[in-house]
Amino acid sequence: MIKALRGTKDILPDEIGLWQYIESSGRDIFNIYGYKEIKTPVIEDASLFIRSIGDATDIVQKEMYVFSDRGGRSIALRPEATASIVRAYIENSLFQAGGVSKLFYIGPMFRSERPQQGRQRQFYQIGVEAIGSDNPLIDAEVVALAAGFLEQLGIKKFHIKLNSLGCQKDKISVMERHKKSFKPYLEKLCETCKGRFDKNVLRIFDCKEPSCKTIAENIAVESALCGDCADHFEKVKKGLDIIGIEYAVDYKIVRGLDYYTKTVFEITQNDLGAKDAICAGGRYNNLIKELDGNDTPAIGFAFGMERLALALEKGSMPHALRPRANVFVAVAGEGFCGEAFKLLYSLRRSGIAGEIDYDTKSLKAQMRKAEKLGAKFVVILGEEEIKNKKVIVRDMENHSQKEVELEKIIIELRR
Ligand code: ATP
Ligand code: MG
Repeated sequence: MIKALRGTKDILPDEIGLWQYIESSGRDIFNIYGYKEIKTPVIEDASLFIRSIGDATDIVQKEMYVFSDRGGRSIALRPEATASIVRAYIENSLFQAGGVSKLFYIGPMFRSERPQQGRQRQFYQIGVEAIGSDNPLIDAEVVALAAGFLEQLGIKKFHIKLNSLGCQKDKISVMERHKKSFKPYLEKLCETCKGRFDKNVLRIFDCKEPSCKTIAENIAVESALCGDCADHFEKVKKGLDIIGIEYAVDYKIVRGLDYYTKTVFEITQNDLGAKDAICAGGRYNNLIKELDGNDTPAIGFAFGMERLALALEKGSMPHALRPRANVFVAVAGEGFCGEAFKLLYSLRRSGIAGEIDYDTKSLKAQMRKAEKLGAKFVVILGEEEIKNKKVIVRDMENHSQKEVELEKIIIELRR
């Protein structure tokens, strides 16, 4: 039997309500904040990600799905959306609209990682990008939007960790400092981190090896921003303070990807166990220029949807996520299926969700089915009723029933 690939999952009809709830809550709040949806292709020229994410990162070195197509081109399944959106922004001249381009996306991403709870090879992200301003209040707005999304979903117990990496110059001097701090421990770092030490020392803070984690935890880190970047960071924090968003400054939040500058943040959630990172974001002021666009500042975030679904399952899941049939059409006796079929058709045509069971014979079994589907009303058609052009409408909540003229059934059910 052919099975789904390791690290991929079917989202089944019973679970889909949760996913639709996450998507529609996202769409609602993104809309309130002025973000419009964008859909970009799942496949891109592999060099887009190599140039933007950085060739020394785990994503590019170990996790990216790359293949040659029939024309010998090097194609990647997108591991994240920011690079694709920036490409689309430049290619379609979205900057011509002026101001800040506010975009959101929902879709699958692909990374060849070791699958475990909350970590898959095909997973879904929902996120936003605000392209076109370096104003610190945009940073505050984007962080507030991430928190607002969680509140809208009803997810509690989350923590926002905030840092600023500074400009490119600051990043270089910060890395010099970190190199000095890590140097005495170089021999004790894992093989990957030994490589990171030269290529991108910041990434050691993201290592999941317990020994590296301990070393990183014990290293003292202080902020080392230039005047402009320190001022920018102060204003981001002030913006968040003004609107009462709680956060903790954590200088060890570095984000693994090369393109981040200035503000970076992560959100963790208590119910998720080891994989508690639910959202990651930050500013990427050099990326658009690097991908041959104009020099344009930008910031964004991405939530992992599997982890949002998991947090909702573990916490207080909103009820009534499952779609239900409002009306079940039941047939008492044989030979009225045609009538029932016609009635059901006209119910649906007038926008009433209805269901029937073409295969079950006894009325009792049909009532059981109606109950299982959560129908509010059952419309029963029998010999007598058909003759008199009437049906019985049973209210499944208070178990009352009455006769209704077939002609008036839609008006009655609407009421
Ligand atoms: P992690 O530290 O868990 O590997 P990351 O730093 O690689 O996360 P990002 O690339 O910043 O994550 O992606 C943002 C969010 O997407 C993460 O916080 C997480 O919720 C989710 N995510 C990332 N990788 C996976 C995956 N393989 N499976 C499921 N969700 C993922
Ligand atoms: Mg990762």
